[in-house]
Amino acid sequence: MKILISNDDGYQAPGIVALYEALKGLADVEVVAPEHNNSAKSNALTLHSPLYVHRAPNGFRYVNGTPADCVHIALTGLLGYRPDLVVSGINNGANMGDDTIYSGTVGAAMEGYLFGIPAIAFSQTERGWAHLDVAAQKAAELVRHLLATLPDAHAARQPVPWLLNVNIPCRPAGDIKGFKVARLGRRHAAEQVIAQTNPRGETMYWIGSAGPAKDDAEGTDFHATAQGFASITPLQVDLTDHERLAYWAPTAAAMGSGAP
Ligand code: MN
Repeated sequence: MKILISNDDGYQAPGIVALYEALKGLADVEVVAPEHNNSAKSNALTLHSPLYVHRAPNGFRYVNGTPADCVHIALTGLLGYRPDLVVSGINNGANMGDDTIYSGTVGAAMEGYLFGIPAIAFSQTERGWAHLDVAAQKAAELVRHLLATLPDAHAARQPVPWLLNVNIPCRPAGDIKGFKVARLGRRHAAEQVIAQTNPRGETMYWIGSAGPAKDDAEGTDFHATAQGFASITPLQVDLTDHERLAYWAPTAAAMGSGAP
């Protein structure tokens, strides 16, 4: 089996190093990751400047682009083979609820999924890398289990791709209760923007922190991780509001034929 690893915190981040070390015994593992921190870059692709790939002394390849760039170029020519699994992370901080829309960690995994490859995004629920070794072991546990469910390279059938968003609490090993499937919760709107003055007297703005949880009810990722479980949320990529298609049909009809 072959695994492609990427992330959004950059190829030097402790989270991707720990993930690589934990997975390298399970499969052939290659890393293609951003050169610099690309958190909150979602699925962005770089279309107006060239991408360069370099190899670090530890074998990781790094790209002057986004997480989705890394996975995209890996799958469309750089690797020269199709990995069985794309894994992203381990992110420095939670990607729960609305975070998933912005997350570059999820974006990297989603790029694999959009190419028809099963993919997992791993995040730790708090920043700072506490208990990173535990998170990496939990990630390896899940990957080991899921690799066994995938068809091997010679199988006639391609796997039905899936996309999992996994958030692991920052706790000692004995304090993680196991895995729990959970839906995404919701967050309140982000905190206020922070305005500062630069040395030339110009105002500059910093995007504020993500809002606190608004829906952290039982069954959500927020709830599961607060209870000490690693949450597993299966994601899909379809922004259509299917329940409201009928609601909007009369609006389209009322717009008429377009004739004056
Ligand atoms: Mn990040």
